[in-house]
Amino acid sequence: MNLSPLKFPGLRRTLAVAIAEIEPSGRLHDANLGFLRLLPDAVAREPHPDVSGYLLSPSLPHLVECSQSEPHAAYEGLLTIGDPEGRVRTLRGAVSRSGSRLLLVTETEIEELERINDRAIQLSLDLAQAQRELLSAHNKLERREEEIRILSQTDLLTGIADHRRFDELIAAEFARVRRYGGSFALAVADIDHFKSVNDEFGHDVGDAALRAFANVVRLRIRRTDLAARFGGEEFIVLMPESDSEGAVRCAEGVRSHFAREPIPPIPWAITASSGVAVLHPDDTVKTLCKRADAALYAAKDGRRNRVVLA
Ligand code: GH3
Ligand code: MG
Ligand code: MG
Repeated sequence: MNLSPLKFPGLRRTLAVAIAEIEPSGRLHDANLGFLRLLPDAVAREPHPDVSGYLLSPSLPHLVECSQSEPHAAYEGLLTIGDPEGRVRTLRGAVSRSGSRLLLVTETEIEELERINDRAIQLSLDLAQAQRELLSAHNKLERREEEIRILSQTDLLTGIADHRRFDELIAAEFARVRRYGGSFALAVADIDHFKSVNDEFGHDVGDAALRAFANVVRLRIRRTDLAARFGGEEFIVLMPESDSEGAVRCAEGVRSHFAREPIPPIPWAITASSGVAVLHPDDTVKTLCKRADAALYAAKDGRRNRVVLA
């Protein structure tokens, strides 16, 4: 800007202090950057702009009046300067007379700066805390979603997985074995003469028998096995890394324990039959299930209450 040299040239580029020499008409005689920054950019670029409209409080006429009665320190205190449509700052300073002009010297209050700084630090701490809380809420939500997804694939009567969950997990296990090698076994179980349980003792007793069977399965399988109710009185167990011997032993354990399980008021033992099949290299999930089913039918074909290996 085309102003004459400032009375305090060392302060020309300072920003925390605002210095200006203003004519009583409002014409800006000279100013430092700190003052020019309080003006709209277009005004600050003019050679000697009229700044009367930007001295908001006290107003220029008031300052001029004070300078006439108090030549040395016309005014001391807070000055609000800026564009009422834009940025306005309240600074602390003094206005005195300099020849025929007014000399305005103000500074940004250090305490105010420190307060702003502290507030910024606090805000950034709050932000970090809020981000941590958001992340934890997000994780919690993801866990809940997973719980709900599993719950939606759980058989309500027995509390074990349903058909859909089993389909998902056997597909995943099949892909894992194809990629990394190994094998797994399937046992398909079906309660014997279950229709007559319902017919003779009612549906509720039939339900109790289904829950009892699921409980025996739950207790007899490994933690890494997956038991599911396939529908009706048919159950299926997926046994990762089991060979035929291990799978038959497990199915046999379920069979013998269930046969000893009292289900009141049924006065005799309820039994179940199983078909076991182990994954062959050329199997698909479908062919494996088919072989397990065929083994189950073979078990039913005979005396029932037994385990047949495919
Ligand atoms: P098998 O020894 O050949 O398996 O004979 P079964 O009587 O067990 O077989 P069938 O398929 O003839 O009968 C199955 C019965 O299971 C018929 C059906 O009413 C009953 N059932 C299916 N789902 C449920 C259920 O959720 N609760 C009860 N109580 N019964 C069910
Ligand atoms: Mg049956
Ligand atoms: Mg059946």
